[in-house]
Amino acid sequence: MNDSRSPPQPVTDFDAVIVGAGFAGLYMLHKLREAGFSARVFEAGTGVGGTWYWNRYPGARCDIESVDYSYSFSPELEQEWQWSERYPRQPEILAYLNHVADRFDLRRDIHLETRVTAAHFDESAGLWRIETDRGQRVTARYCVMATGCLSLPKRPDFPGVDQFAGDWYLTAAWPKQDVDLTGKRVGVIGTGSTAIQVIPQVARQAAHLTVFQRTANFSVPARNGPLPQSDQQRIKAQYPSRRQLSRESLFGVPVAMPAAPRRTRDIPPDELRQTLETLWAQGGAMSLLAAAPDVIADAEANTLVADFVREKIRATVKDPKVSAMLCPTTHPLGTKRLCLDTEYYETYNRDNVTLVDLRATPIEQITEHGLRTSAAEYPLDVLIFATGFDAMTGALNSIDIRGRDGLALKQAWAGGPQTYLGLASAGFPNMFLITGPQSPSVFSNMVVSIEQHVEWIAGCLAYLREHDLACIEANPQAQAGWVAHVADVANSTLLPQTDSWYVGANVPGKPRVFTPYLGGVGPYRQHCQQVAAKGYEGFELSRQPVAA
Ligand code: FAD
Ligand code: NAP
Repeated sequence: MNDSRSPPQPVTDFDAVIVGAGFAGLYMLHKLREAGFSARVFEAGTGVGGTWYWNRYPGARCDIESVDYSYSFSPELEQEWQWSERYPRQPEILAYLNHVADRFDLRRDIHLETRVTAAHFDESAGLWRIETDRGQRVTARYCVMATGCLSLPKRPDFPGVDQFAGDWYLTAAWPKQDVDLTGKRVGVIGTGSTAIQVIPQVARQAAHLTVFQRTANFSVPARNGPLPQSDQQRIKAQYPSRRQLSRESLFGVPVAMPAAPRRTRDIPPDELRQTLETLWAQGGAMSLLAAAPDVIADAEANTLVADFVREKIRATVKDPKVSAMLCPTTHPLGTKRLCLDTEYYETYNRDNVTLVDLRATPIEQITEHGLRTSAAEYPLDVLIFATGFDAMTGALNSIDIRGRDGLALKQAWAGGPQTYLGLASAGFPNMFLITGPQSPSVFSNMVVSIEQHVEWIAGCLAYLREHDLACIEANPQAQAGWVAHVADVANSTLLPQTDSWYVGANVPGKPRVFTPYLGGVGPYRQHCQQVAAKGYEGFELSRQPVAA
């Protein structure tokens, strides 16, 4: 603490402005209101829901089980909401989030169709000045960025895209009205988690589907199905312990961290085979990773599990040339997001589906009537771009965020994101990030990580108020230590070597930095709790609007 006098606090429109109304922004608003803070949410979409508002493509659903991919903060909510499937579809998750907005009376503080364009910290007044694309200007003591890790889609920049005479769609900006693909020749570019969900659905409707694959991905069957009432009741009866297990776990799912994990390579081959067969039959990508956590760190362990998955692909896909193209060879399993699918590999056994290898025959140009690779021209009526996101930093860097001395966040992060705990960044007082870079974020069940951040931020603001403090800012040394720790943990795994969106390799010119924290959801939570318990160790706290 730098001083003892308590100067008059500036008058602001709101205690906090929250940017984004997905899982994070909705809960942040509820939590701040509950603690007696005034808050305003700005959301670019015409509705709440974030990811689940924007990603309406056919097949969109979550890859964490519904009973776990849901808020835990309200026992009443968790008991009353009925999930219909093990992995619910996008409309159901969106309906759930709309229910949350209504149930907790959140809408009156949410401005929809309003994009925050700028957030400038006014040092003399110690407040944030926020501007929107609708010309609103508001001030707030605190600015909470709930802008999402995967909310800025990459725009298609293929040569010739403007000449295409057919319809084209971006999966992350899918229209609200139904898109009828019946009888159409459809092309899908991409084979990441999104495409792997879209492809089987489109294949069922289209006259012909051509999949343009640059990198084959590993995918695990979801084994999705209805969630019987009896199972749901049993889970609901055990919710407190199930949620606790997720909070203490590696990835935010209810799988206990093994006390003395065995190395996968030390498991007798028959036993390993049996375990993998059981997991494959049960379905679920996170449980596969959680059962053999060393696969992301030990190349030999990785090969054992990757070979198993490749064998499954070969056993499913009848045409050996196609199955060879679908077997991932460019990266270890789990170093790009491990996908979850329903009949993805089976889809390539259909007569109306063609797979094109873009590594062998790159895209040259999108033409008026299709797509031309170096080997052939494919006539198409519809093109679907499932080409991913400017992840982790894209949405933040799209806002003109300026901290002390007019420092632009974009500039401060020019060499890669610099955060303390993924929650705050030095030079940007009173600004918080929910699931920011260098927190477990995308390497976890994100609802668990979101709840942890929201509760930590709300606790922090209550602490500042209780102690008559006006300002909190990450300490640059503590931040440097955290950034180095995140890199050390990442470098002890196989992940940084792979070209993935985790390292920003999917966006030309983006600095190559591994962004999620891989230390595990449970250990990370404990660390954040200790930081708070020690009076926000690693942060500068001040009674003045700005720390000296
Ligand atoms: P988001 O849901 O992304 O919401 C952020 C909101 O901020 C958006 O609505 C956006 O419009 C708004 N916004 C951004 N910038 C501005 C601005 N400047 N002004 C105003 N508004 C702005 N995670 C899992 O754990 N499990 C899954 O199964 C899973 N499936 C996914 C499937 C898809 C297709 C995608 C894209 C992501 C998935 N994720 C999954 C990650 C998912 O993003 C998170 O689980 C979670 O929904 C994130 O919530 P959020 O509120 O942090 O961000
Ligand atoms: P992604 O994983 O980044 O996949 C994008 C795909 O497009 C990749 O196959 C990529 O190929 C390809 N691509 C991109 N640019 C290309 C180009 N210029 N030419 C050819 N191909 C190109 O994006 P995503 O599938 O949207 O998924 C992003 C993340 O969202 C996931 O990792 C996951 O965290 C989340 N998500 C989850 C679910 C779920 O199951 N619940 C569903 C969707 C998304 P390369 O690999 O070669 O770059």
